[in-house]
Amino acid sequence: MYETTDNAMLTELGRRLVGGSLSDQAIQRATEATPNFAILPWVNVVKIGGQSIMDRGRSAVGPVVEEIVANLHRHKMILGTGAGTRARHVYSLAIDLGLPTGVLTVLGTAVAWQNAQMLQYLLAKHGIAFLEPEGFASLPHYLMERGAVICQGMPPYKLWEANPDIGRIPPQRTDTGCFLIAEVFGARKMIYVKDEDGLFTADPKKDPTARHIARISVQELLAQDLHDLIVERSVLDLMLNTRNIAEIQFVNGLKPGQLTAALDGEPVGSVIFNAANRGAAA
Ligand code: ADP
Ligand code: MG
Repeated sequence: MYETTDNAMLTELGRRLVGGSLSDQAIQRATEATPNFAILPWVNVVKIGGQSIMDRGRSAVGPVVEEIVANLHRHKMILGTGAGTRARHVYSLAIDLGLPTGVLTVLGTAVAWQNAQMLQYLLAKHGIAFLEPEGFASLPHYLMERGAVICQGMPPYKLWEANPDIGRIPPQRTDTGCFLIAEVFGARKMIYVKDEDGLFTADPKKDPTARHIARISVQELLAQDLHDLIVERSVLDLMLNTRNIAEIQFVNGLKPGQLTAALDGEPVGSVIFNAANRGAAA
């Protein structure tokens, strides 16, 4: 009888995977043995905040767009958009109607999509395209040709979004979606453009005594269990298991030059890094 596990074509790992259980921890560990491959090691994922940038309209979006254009021929960028105030409004309606988290995710995705559309029309004359995840196969080509693409920031879970521990707000929103794009493509940088100088010990809009944190490990930040954060908590949880993205950076989009400085590799704003990073991509 033909035995799949005896197939001489298979590597040692191949035989173990074909013949063993995928839940076997020894087999799972064996899949760590090969180096990580970075698919787009030169791309920078840049999240443009929803409430913090897009919702402020021309005064905030205009300079950010100018800075993106100025960097088109210097840095390659995947520009993801946040959702913001309109998502919060539609969440409140859906929650009032008793609708589940997965439906809220569908609604929030539509708002991030609106912001991506606006950004794309503002950048259209520079040849910048908007891509849905289904079109990501063309992403390398657009990046090589034009230097940037736009996508909406929500992960495409939609109805499949898992419930949060508490309440009904989708836990993995646009900070997370952009982060996951950066991780899977092995991006050079993950930069969040918001409306504060980075991470503080508390929300600086509510607490004038909040202190700026220039650099902190994700492990220490989780241990501090701050009451509020500049980034979705799920990004911090996901960071613990990343293979490619060792750090994320936060800059103030209301201050011209900060995005450029971050793209240029300067330690502007705040950096959260993984102190137990499993090794950079090959
Ligand atoms: P986005 O526009 O990308 O969705 P958010 O509005 O969700 O961004 O998050 C950014 C906001 O987080 C900032 O405007 C700031 O007021 C708030 N914030 C809350 N906690 C902190 C903190 N510890 N440090 C810095 N900002 C914080
Ligand atoms: Mg947000």
